[in-house]
Amino acid sequence: MEYETVIGLEVHAQLLTKSKMFCSCSTDYASAPPNTHVCPVCLGMPGVLPTINRQAIEYAIMTALALNCTISESTRFDRKNYPYPDLMKGYQISQYDSPLSRNGWLTIEVDGESRRVGITRVHQEEDVAKLWHRTDPSGESYSLVDVNRAGVPLMEIVSEPDLRSPEEARQYLIKLRSILQYLGVSTGNMEEGSFRCDANVSIRRAGSNEFQAKAEVKNMNSFKSVYRALEYEVERQRKIVEEGGKLLQETRGWVEDKGITVSQRSKEYAHDYRYFPEPDLPPLVVSRELVEEMRSRLPELPDARRDRFVSQYGLSWYDANLLTTSRAQADYFESCLKLFPEDSDLKRNAKTVANWLLGEFARLFNVTGTEIDDSKVKPQHLVEMLHLIEEGTLSTKMAKSVFEEMFHTGKRAAEIVKQKGLTQISAAPELEAIVDRVVLENAQAVADYKQGKEQALKFMVGQVMNATKGQANPQVVNELLKNKLGEGQPV
Ligand code: ADP
Ligand code: ZN
Ligand code: MG
Repeated sequence: MEYETVIGLEVHAQLLTKSKMFCSCSTDYASAPPNTHVCPVCLGMPGVLPTINRQAIEYAIMTALALNCTISESTRFDRKNYPYPDLMKGYQISQYDSPLSRNGWLTIEVDGESRRVGITRVHQEEDVAKLWHRTDPSGESYSLVDVNRAGVPLMEIVSEPDLRSPEEARQYLIKLRSILQYLGVSTGNMEEGSFRCDANVSIRRAGSNEFQAKAEVKNMNSFKSVYRALEYEVERQRKIVEEGGKLLQETRGWVEDKGITVSQRSKEYAHDYRYFPEPDLPPLVVSRELVEEMRSRLPELPDARRDRFVSQYGLSWYDANLLTTSRAQADYFESCLKLFPEDSDLKRNAKTVANWLLGEFARLFNVTGTEIDDSKVKPQHLVEMLHLIEEGTLSTKMAKSVFEEMFHTGKRAAEIVKQKGLTQISAAPELEAIVDRVVLENAQAVADYKQGKEQALKFMVGQVMNATKGQANPQVVNELLKNKLGEGQPV
């Protein structure tokens, strides 16, 4: 039997506002001592009144517009009631049947094809407190509550059940995070919990249009975990169905170190939450002027920027896509291009900078766990180094080691070259002696070359490069060797 996977994602993103959603406490709690960014409103004291954070609403509108949603003329907040120690008021202010926006989409690319994924809604709510579960040395366990996070603006983005594989889910998350980062509305950092994803997944007979009972999987804290959890869950469900079992609607938790999902509870339904309109807040009328103002503030978004990189700079779709996924990286790339002489070849410069960003840069970011924002190598420094390659002072090979030092120390290329006495040996007299020696020591290669084997020439170039510890200019070596060996002339 063939099965089809059905996935819909619910993403919660903390918004980068200065203050909380319904009070003026600071949202900047990451390094603050516990329970220092609190007030009667976010502590859930009786008799206090919430006020709506305008900036949060503006950010949510911008997001909804970027996701092609329709913005409601009038929207309302509702109380979602449930008892839990992280919920100070005993309810969360959220939005139920009158969300800020609906009916959008974003585009993902999988296997070279682009596909639209429906966005059901983008709505606004508030974060809950953070619980710290502890066990003391005697074995007694307890929980601590940090209310700093309670009331931080949280935007919820719900997708349609349009995703058909864990890979599509991953691409959706990458694209969504990229859009939020371009808008500057959220850090999109999943490890820090400012971007969280609940993944709903079910399977059905291939060709069927019916939806089957889904599992909602929680607790993943990286894109990779979402992918793994979905793969695991699809396989688990398939086994149950094949053994004739019945799947239940349930909430499951991902256990990272075991690589499995475990049942947490049977699914709760909307009626379990006793939703009702928030009586302390008036309906929110969203003027069309505000919507248009927000629309005019939208920056160029990742898809548009990728397509422009292809047409304007002649990059491949693949490279352009990688470069534009991170706004910071795309900005860096374009800053570099502005630093080249005006009469130089734009497309060639673009290809060179892209190669360094996606090659050595990416490798070192990976190794050091840093990002382009942390980079000590500024666009100016990279372009200076490329200039040293261009003028022949550095071979590409030397440039790699110079770059690595620039990356770690922040020193400029010229300084490193001077300190280490590095300069490419391109002056012919110095090289000629080495070339002569290589020719003498490699009679077989010389003979092969004379019989037309190009490979033999490459081999000898390699030998010269080794002998100079990479400090020779390979093009010059090539020329020298060819001159020396002539076309079929005895040496
Ligand atoms: P719930 O009643 O659980 O809140 P919703 O209809 O609001 O369900 O959908 C929540 C999320 O689950 C959405 O992202 C939606 O796309 C997804 N979803 C709904 N039905 C299914 C299904 N059968 N399989 C997979 N995902 C689903
Ligand atoms: Zn507060
Ligand atoms: Mg729902």
